[in-house]
Amino acid sequence: MIEKSEIDEALRRYDSRKITVATLCSHSALQIFFGAKQEGFRTIGICKPETKKAYDSFPLGKPEEYLIVKSYDEILSDAFQEELLKRNAVIIPHGSFVEYVGAKNLEKKFFVPMFGNRKVLDWEGDRDKEMFWLKKAGIPLPKTFESPEDIDRLCVIKFHGAKGGKGFFLAESGEEFEEKMEEARKKFPEAELSKHFIQEYILGVRYYPHYFYSPILNRIELFSIDRRDESNIDGLHRIGATKDEIQSFGSYVVTGNLPVVVRESLLPKLFDIGGRVVKASLDLFAPGMIGPFCVESVCRDDLEFITFEVSARIVAGTNLYPLGSQYSCYLFEEPMSTGRRISREINLAIKDKRLADVIF
Ligand code: AMP
Repeated sequence: MIEKSEIDEALRRYDSRKITVATLCSHSALQIFFGAKQEGFRTIGICKPETKKAYDSFPLGKPEEYLIVKSYDEILSDAFQEELLKRNAVIIPHGSFVEYVGAKNLEKKFFVPMFGNRKVLDWEGDRDKEMFWLKKAGIPLPKTFESPEDIDRLCVIKFHGAKGGKGFFLAESGEEFEEKMEEARKKFPEAELSKHFIQEYILGVRYYPHYFYSPILNRIELFSIDRRDESNIDGLHRIGATKDEIQSFGSYVVTGNLPVVVRESLLPKLFDIGGRVVKASLDLFAPGMIGPFCVESVCRDDLEFITFEVSARIVAGTNLYPLGSQYSCYLFEEPMSTGRRISREINLAIKDKRLADVIF
């Protein structure tokens, strides 16, 4: 386990006037680099050779320096990490970075300072712990079922660590669960299916509000909201699919994102949810959920938000708003993306000599 004292030691050796912002060239990297440059930081992109051209095509979004890797495993080598330390690098861990390097590897082997609380990786990566966190937050959640025999309503069956909805299926009864599980076994290795999670399917519209918790300004900001396009569940209605067909063929692979604003009268509820999630994180794994996070919810027709998941880092839906959103314009005078907001927090922390409060 990488101890916080080790990170603090690395930070002490850093020249705070020469911090560089680094991330993997994927997910939300353009926004992160663009925002970091707006905040005056030098940027480093960790990149596969075949990806560089795409980033070079965006002069304002590309990093100033590339560190090229043939395979993502190289990121964990001591030599590669030393290169990052030499450059006073602070890593911004987005979803692809966490997935490709591995949450456990980041906790145990990655000694380069990262923005945000490392402890959160474990809390969001394990669906049982994630649900414990959300329950503690006291926000409305879908019912969960311990055993398939207990299923008494439409449920979504999820797999641990299966981000992007891989292999998810719907079932309305224990028998349907067994049938679909049999099909899933043919498609996916047993190891991926062993830990499943049965959750009530919530009917309504999905909203993915993007928050930012700032320990430096001591406030929670609602930055923007998106909705995900998921294939093929979001296309099945176009062929007039029946409920049975949707249950059999629906898949939940994210393919894109759409901007959303909610009815203004719903904003207090979103603030309540964000605040509770942060408060519970402070109680469970102080100093809690630092920086960007997303509380993935379904809004029902009674206007209740039911939360089915939390993403404890920058989500790709924020890519809709590189120049700020319909909400961030009421928070900052200048165009402020979530990527830029992360670098702004680092800047504020440097000014207050509190870098160790936001970097772990
Ligand atoms: P997740 O991996 O938990 O983010 O789920 C992937 C997708 O499955 C979501 O974006 C939703 O479209 C759908 N989904 C997950 N859980 C639920 C739920 N409890 N009720 C309705 N839809 C859900």
